[in-house]
Amino acid sequence: MAETTVNADPQELAKFGDLAHRWWDPEGEFRPLHQINPLRLDWIASQAELAGREVLDVGCGGGILAESMARRGAKVLGIDLSTKPLRVARLHAMEASVASLDYREVAVEQLAAERPASFDVVTCMEMLEHVPEPASVVRACATLVKPGGWVFFSTLNRNPKSFLFAIVGAEHVLGLLPKGTHEYARFIRPSELARFARDAGLEADALKGMSYNPLTRRYWLGEDTDVNYLMACRRPA
Ligand code: SAH
Repeated sequence: MAETTVNADPQELAKFGDLAHRWWDPEGEFRPLHQINPLRLDWIASQAELAGREVLDVGCGGGILAESMARRGAKVLGIDLSTKPLRVARLHAMEASVASLDYREVAVEQLAAERPASFDVVTCMEMLEHVPEPASVVRACATLVKPGGWVFFSTLNRNPKSFLFAIVGAEHVLGLLPKGTHEYARFIRPSELARFARDAGLEADALKGMSYNPLTRRYWLGEDTDVNYLMACRRPA
């Protein structure tokens, strides 16, 4: 694990490290990420060109999104601060012989200092709600993207409904996620994320909600941003 002075919570990183070997099991603890991946990938690709572009995936974990973007022809760098998920991601990419896919254990703030304005697309999915200072991550993403490029975030909204659905429902009733996966106080309202983005010089361009039906066990993208949502931002050219 990287040093603890960076903008990261060691307990959060350890949680993902402990489950890393299960990352690519489509029926395991990360089943929700496997299920939502085609939806978010299509949404990203509907707005930003991926083929041949330089893409950064921040908080990539075991590489579900990063690898899928590389399969669409992007040159992808995935970064995370949890060592084991990165090891799993590298192994999976090797076994699946996915080209143009690299992984690195580095803080996004450090990469921003090393390589400003280097990426056409930056994605940061289901990660901000695990970080002590999400605004700092948003700033770093804004620094890393090229002028005219895209930054995509996804996270959990903060309101009574999201508490009920994302914590009580998903962790305690349905068992979709391990108990303790999410902490309510770290959830982020779309208005707060939009402010972080604006303060970082990004324009919040589009907002999409993600919903889940426990009966059909299906996710879909729509207008309901009450629980899980995605935000597309642009850095002005
Ligand atoms: N973005 C991936 C994984 C989401 S799980 C996906 O959506 O498929 C959350 C990930 O964020 C974990 O891999 C965890 O290690 C990572 N993470 C948590 N805090 C982080 C930080 N401060 N810096 C980088 N990654 C972090």
